[in-house]
Amino acid sequence: MTDPRFDAVLTFIRAQYPDEDPIPLHVPRFAGRETEYLAETIRSTFVSYIGPFVREFEQRFAAYVGARHAIAVVSGTAGLHLALHAVGVRSGDDVLTQPLTFVATANAIRYLHAHPVFLDIDPDTLGLSPDAVAAYLKANAIAKADGVYNRQTGRRIAACVPVHTFGHPARIDALVEVCRTYDIPVVEDAAEGLGSLYQGRHVGTFGHVGVFSFNGNKIVTTGGGGMVVTQDDALAERIRHLSTTAKVPHPYEYIHDEVGYNYRMPNVNAAIGLAQMEQLPRFLADKRALAAGYRELATRIGVGFVDEPPGARSNFWLNALVWEDEATRTAFLTYAHQQGVLARAAWRLMSDLPMYRACPTDALTVARDRAPRLVNVPSSVRRQSLAQEVAS
Ligand SMILES: *Cc1c(COP(=O)(O)O)cnc(C)c1O
Repeated sequence: MTDPRFDAVLTFIRAQYPDEDPIPLHVPRFAGRETEYLAETIRSTFVSYIGPFVREFEQRFAAYVGARHAIAVVSGTAGLHLALHAVGVRSGDDVLTQPLTFVATANAIRYLHAHPVFLDIDPDTLGLSPDAVAAYLKANAIAKADGVYNRQTGRRIAACVPVHTFGHPARIDALVEVCRTYDIPVVEDAAEGLGSLYQGRHVGTFGHVGVFSFNGNKIVTTGGGGMVVTQDDALAERIRHLSTTAKVPHPYEYIHDEVGYNYRMPNVNAAIGLAQMEQLPRFLADKRALAAGYRELATRIGVGFVDEPPGARSNFWLNALVWEDEATRTAFLTYAHQQGVLARAAWRLMSDLPMYRACPTDALTVARDRAPRLVNVPSSVRRQSLAQEVAS
């Protein structure tokens, strides 16, 4: 017999997305000026990375999150790669991060031939735990002339990358404080966090650099894309330079002064991004209302719900339920898929993937407990909320 709680969840979800079958986990909504702006890029012939929408998107984004600089790039992954490179991660370094994340976080570290060290998450935020980082550094950090070294691996600890998981802010002030004590730069993986605040300040602006994603499944999309933000003028200039093949500005000569990347966001993508940013407040309002519905449902049927952490304002990008054990989680996912509701398991822990299995970890008590019990449930902005806005 099917667990009656499963049907309660599916009934709730169907009521949110009455005209969708199957019901996807998260799809974009284009209810603004996307078509108009896209047509403008074609008319102007500025489709590639020189074009006014890129600057406008960057300026609007920087103002929205409260950052001094914003650099638009081709993906969140590319943004993480550049950010880590710019803060000084080099081949053979260690980088502290969390095991519960999308694979891009660990991949970006590995692109620089550095080594992820996976430390535990907090149970409420699902983000990197400042207590776990402090304990690990207390036990393993050795100060040397060129930085802090890891007693376990003999490698330099070159950066720390916390993730604002599912859009819930990590305890970023405490993380930044611990890392500052050891002089370790912080790169915030805020890929999922656009619209999320910690103690009134936007995520991504606490660390040396913050990185956002505009992949098709994120709260705002550009098709594919990312944004790197920083308060630091020198870092911003260096990231911009690295993103445009390290080309030295010159009217007709091609001069490149280091190995750079072709990571600059094209104007067509920025056109979509600008139109999407204009709708972000509506998207956030609907997601908050949807999350309230999930919270009430979860309370009613006695299932865990990943909620806004204390002191934070979450964007509720992706709602998550927490089942009592892995078997129930798997039974729910199987049933939901049979019924056309495309809920998903949380990511397999990075430390359990073949390419990262040998990386150092702490005990990962919370991550190992939570990951196999979490499910992400459909969280797209609801169509009827956009229709109401247009009608009103
Ligand atoms: C989406 C995502 C990324 C990567 O962004 P892309 O734009 O898809 O490259 C990185 N980290 C996290 C946590 C993400 O969710």
